[in-house]
Amino acid sequence: MQTHYGMYIDGEWRQAAGPDRVEVVNPVDERVIASVPAGTAEDVDRAVRAARAAFRDWAETPPAERAARIAALSEQLSGRREEIARTVTAELGAPLAFSGKVHTDMPTAVAASYAKLLETYEFTEKVGNSVVHHEPMGVVGAITPWNYPLHQIVAKVVPALAAGCTVVLKPAEDTPMVARIFAEAVHDAGFPAGVFNLVTGLGPVAGQALAEHDGVDLVSFTGSTAVGKLIAATAARSVKRVALELGGKSANVILPSADLGRAVNIGIANVMANSGQTCSAWTRMLVDADRYEEAVELARATAAKYVPGDPTDPDTRLGPLVNAKQRDRVRGYIATGVQQGARLVAGGPEAPEGRERGYFVRPTVFADVTPHMTIAQEEIFGPVVSIMRYENEEQALEIANGTVYGLAGAVWAADEAEAVEFARRMETGQVDINGGRFNPLAPFGGYKQSGIGRELGSHGLAEFLQTKSLQF
Ligand code: NAD
Repeated sequence: MQTHYGMYIDGEWRQAAGPDRVEVVNPVDERVIASVPAGTAEDVDRAVRAARAAFRDWAETPPAERAARIAALSEQLSGRREEIARTVTAELGAPLAFSGKVHTDMPTAVAASYAKLLETYEFTEKVGNSVVHHEPMGVVGAITPWNYPLHQIVAKVVPALAAGCTVVLKPAEDTPMVARIFAEAVHDAGFPAGVFNLVTGLGPVAGQALAEHDGVDLVSFTGSTAVGKLIAATAARSVKRVALELGGKSANVILPSADLGRAVNIGIANVMANSGQTCSAWTRMLVDADRYEEAVELARATAAKYVPGDPTDPDTRLGPLVNAKQRDRVRGYIATGVQQGARLVAGGPEAPEGRERGYFVRPTVFADVTPHMTIAQEEIFGPVVSIMRYENEEQALEIANGTVYGLAGAVWAADEAEAVEFARRMETGQVDINGGRFNPLAPFGGYKQSGIGRELGSHGLAEFLQTKSLQF
């Protein structure tokens, strides 16, 4: 059990203003493993003031020097790989190998990509008789979720720092320990005091205070669409810029020419990864009527390989969900699917055998899911796949585009050009063609109610810049 009293403000660990605490629970055995301070508006105010005081100097620090600090940060993260992976497994419940490869290596690579990008990024351009300067927005309030706890932090904080902004981070209450490691890494990388600040605490208290604060110029938020709307409304009161990365209900469109086995296998793996707690997960699998039953059988067989288990066991591929609320929510959605007449092919709303304790959910596959069903429309955020039938490509497109979301998706076809043609008609921010591969430079973000703005690469950096033109 680790007990912490400090929050990282103005280059040091400072005692929180109030006595309230946030407990961190291990999702496997439901034991409290750590406790951190629950920050208040006063803590947020201190952090924002520190960020404001540090802003001018950091904004004027040459990009090469900012790049050097960011490169050092990436090295710090890489040097603490095992510790980060163990921490993510303990507080989130992700299988250990996944915590290393995805939860640690991916954000470390993202951080490194910004050090590199700064070598060539043009903060000034000439347009006719004008010189346009791309200047940092100022103080950034970053509010992050628990699902990819380090990645979500890095994807906001690092481009903000690269742009010359200073930052106050309010990480998710379920996963504050990895956020503390990140703050230590920032410190050890030699960033000046006040450039990065961490306030742990509850969303409606510390998060709300950050979104409201007059000293914050931009709020960058990732999480639920409901809270995203609240934050946008709060920010509007003082005309703050917002960047929102919200929910998804992404379609995995398997065209008739595709390699069905590969598309279904990878499609199921994509949803089971991180226990389905991925905003871009391909939760709706669209298959043509001719091969529908074949796909359902393949999906059932693949899902059977995901046995819920202890994430510290190297054989475990499916860990628990993050907390009791999420477990109950996901099981509730599964029950709703059954009630609304979807065909349960694998899994179900009961606790997995022998896993009554902990926040486990059965890997679940539904067939005969129709577009109006709740499980076809709402983000479930668990290991649940809905297989939907289409008669022709027009109908597939209509189903794919038929939700309020538009974050990601996948298209499979024998001919890449055919898949690309379909992907271009999808109302979504990112599409993987025949499986795709993670690219830390590719802009990520939503169409429609999946968000505003883009993260990663040069687009992610541009989010934290504002433009000034000088006419000659
Ligand atoms: P959430 O939106 O409640 O929390 C995300 C972050 O916002 C956390 O840091 C939280 O403390 C903070 N927050 C909460 N209320 C706030 C408020 N009023 N003002 C300011 N900040 C606030 O998400 P959650 O409860 O962690 O998860 C609920 C659902 O959100 C999930 O089931 C899923 O659908 C969705 N979700 C999406 C993503 C994503 O990456 N898009 C990530 C996590 C969760």
